[in-house]
Amino acid sequence: PFEALVVGGGPAGAAAAIYTARKGFSTGIAAERMGGQVQDTMGIENFISVPYTEGPKLAGALASHVAEYEIDAMNLLRAEKLIPAKELGGYHEVVFDNGASLKARSLVLTTGARWRQLGVPGEAEYQTKGVAYCPHCDGPLFKGKRVAVIGGGNSGVEAAIDLANIVGSVTLIEFDTKLRADQVLVDKLASMPNVTILTNAMTTEVTGDGAKVNGIKYKDRATDVEHLIELEGIFVQIGLVPNTEWLKGSGLELSPRGEIVINEKCATNIPGVFAAGDATTVPYKQIIIAMGEGAKAALSAFDFLIRNEAP
Ligand code: FAD
Repeated sequence: PFEALVVGGGPAGAAAAIYTARKGFSTGIAAERMGGQVQDTMGIENFISVPYTEGPKLAGALASHVAEYEIDAMNLLRAEKLIPAKELGGYHEVVFDNGASLKARSLVLTTGARWRQLGVPGEAEYQTKGVAYCPHCDGPLFKGKRVAVIGGGNSGVEAAIDLANIVGSVTLIEFDTKLRADQVLVDKLASMPNVTILTNAMTTEVTGDGAKVNGIKYKDRATDVEHLIELEGIFVQIGLVPNTEWLKGSGLELSPRGEIVINEKCATNIPGVFAAGDATTVPYKQIIIAMGEGAKAALSAFDFLIRNEAP
């Protein structure tokens, strides 16, 4: 058993494991895929103090920083169940897909999130070749170019406003007959000169020249007529899904969107169980934020461990 067990090996998990190990606690980190979303990222330009890096390089740096400490790192383990401790300060248990289970007096859950995909032809093929999911990350790559944003909820409309200040033109495509974002955002978007809003439009295909995106096809749901828009970039904003399905039924509080509910100290509703990063209710999902939150959750775990002896 460990004193601290981190579940998830992205930026939040790596930071948490390093912080608990530095406090002298026996620490384990178990992840389905070490590195997390960072593994799928090309250029990273907003990891402050590092002007430019690439996902696989940063993921390697996370792993080697973790390896500097006596941390038991277990890759390719998918958590399937959380069994909380029966008494304060007791052992929580995490059951994995291979049947193994690990116990620890404090847990830091950092299982991250995944962007919901459109599931249309061309989307997967042109990921990082014009198809993007994070406007804060990739917006500046499309400076002066033509882009589409798919999704008319708050995140889509915010992304379109953000991008309209950077790129040449933005077409917002919404499946429903009206945008679902807050009215103030919709009004702001509608006032921007380089923005076109299409509602009642179903995205049907991402087109490209083999190397990069060159257009998007959508069907006007009122007329059933298909249209092609020529452009260079597509931002898919139809939801970020937290990887928390495995926690359902454990008694851990999740928000209506499935995010782990945390307070300002990264504590969950279960004593000794902390959480950090994209899997939680923390606003804004970014690498630097996930790392800060992971550190915070680990310091809270430290605080918990020194105050609660094993029963
Ligand atoms: P994640 O990185 O999602 O890591 C989750 C970890 O948990 C992984 O190790 C995963 O395998 C593991 N896991 C999941 N479920 C289980 C389970 N059941 N059992 C065990 N392990 C599990 N942010 C930026 O700041 N700048 C950028 O330029 C940038 N670009 C991005 C580009 C792309 C294509 C994507 C997808 C994201 C980008 N982001 C960027 C966002 C950033 O990657 C995330 O905010 C960050 O990785 C979140 O870290 P995390 O540790 O909370 O979660």
